[in-house]
Amino acid sequence: MTVTVRFAPSPTGKIHIGNARTALFNWLFALKHRGRFIQRFDDTDVLRSRQEYADAILYDLHWLGIFQDATEYQSRRIEIYDAAVERLKAAGLLYACYETPEELDLRRKVRRTRGLPPVYGREALALTADQIAEYESNGRRPHWRLLLPNFRSDPLEPERTEIRWNDLVRGEETVDLASVSDPVLVREDGTYLYTLPSVVDDIEMGITHVIRGDDHVTNTGVQIALFKALGAEPPEFGHHNLLTTASGEGLSKRTGSLSIEGLREAGIEPMAVASLAVLIGTSESVHAVPTMAELAERFDPAATSKSAAKFDPDELLVLNRALLHHMPFAQARDRLAALGVSGEHAEPFWNAVRGNLDRLSDAVQWWKIINEGPQEKPEFSPEDRAFLDTAFDLLPEEPWGASVWRDWTGKVRETTGRKGKALFMPLRMALTGLASGPELADLLPLLGREGTLARRP
Ligand code: GLU
Repeated sequence: MTVTVRFAPSPTGKIHIGNARTALFNWLFALKHRGRFIQRFDDTDVLRSRQEYADAILYDLHWLGIFQDATEYQSRRIEIYDAAVERLKAAGLLYACYETPEELDLRRKVRRTRGLPPVYGREALALTADQIAEYESNGRRPHWRLLLPNFRSDPLEPERTEIRWNDLVRGEETVDLASVSDPVLVREDGTYLYTLPSVVDDIEMGITHVIRGDDHVTNTGVQIALFKALGAEPPEFGHHNLLTTASGEGLSKRTGSLSIEGLREAGIEPMAVASLAVLIGTSESVHAVPTMAELAERFDPAATSKSAAKFDPDELLVLNRALLHHMPFAQARDRLAALGVSGEHAEPFWNAVRGNLDRLSDAVQWWKIINEGPQEKPEFSPEDRAFLDTAFDLLPEEPWGASVWRDWTGKVRETTGRKGKALFMPLRMALTGLASGPELADLLPLLGREGTLARRP
């Protein structure tokens, strides 16, 4: 069977690195097994879901290097869920409930004071036809709960019922169905909560592996029961740990700065995000992996820790630098061209400056320095000015070979007696206007003799 996975966010906001991590786990799993990746938007909550968020999520995924084989929207599949509801009703597995949220809240409190677990007590199963008629005549509409298979013959006498699975990340997992409430599948207004559409789609779309955050572990127990109620074999499940901020807080779609869009705008490379998201909380050290294919090779869901992983945005910058330092020109070419860095010098320029960049866009500053000259006119002491005069007089004639920098500075050293910082710093300041930057040996050939002489103070 073809491995088929899905990434199923609700399009209610921009995705952050934690959401992207779920997408990446699924994508890498699909890559590793030559499987299919379905992008599914869980948009049954019509009030909060928006097409613009779905579009933004797709944009973010493509930027990360994740490409879906199919795109699905739950809001376009309502008849399929309606049909599943009819089947469950016919099988007596879905029952109507009329409680208001306040009534449910009160019941939970009463159960707690009696030392009972705060789960739904299935009171609706005991409603008489008269009571139901009265609710209906008062304008109450039912919501519908799935009757979980956690009892022998009397649903009002639930008993410990273990649902087990071998989790791709966490190993043996167990959920006791007596410890959870019968889930509401359909709201009063006929709209669907997450559980039923998710399971119906996983069946219909042939999902073989459901990989998601460990906040869904309990849901999985319930959903396995629903798969079986619908006559389907459940897929395999994997629940990865969640990311928290350095101070231990969970990430939310509202935390703008950690959104994928925010990271992109801050100049973070997609593979820096992917490397951190996938390697954090594993036995491997977090390091920059340059391609998705290499990351897929390393990816092992079972090697991910079970506890929450703290995430430090500064680590992204470290990975970013490492990626840029080794990035081949071919990979940077189009983005550089979009920033105005193009032409025959673009490649040697890139090779000269990439080792000094925090962000790819920082290359523009160096492109300007090379092509226009120092952006701020450097100040020199009279001694340095005299030194530079001598140095510029010694600049070799063209054509220049690979050793021009060494030849030039060798002669300058011999003539002036200066060495080390006293020799290099005035030259660096004169040529670039900055006290640090790429190797001057690499920059000099880009300036050429004329360009170099033009920087004579
Ligand atoms: N829409 C759900 C969520 O974002 C999907 C969970 C799942 O993968 O089943 O949490």
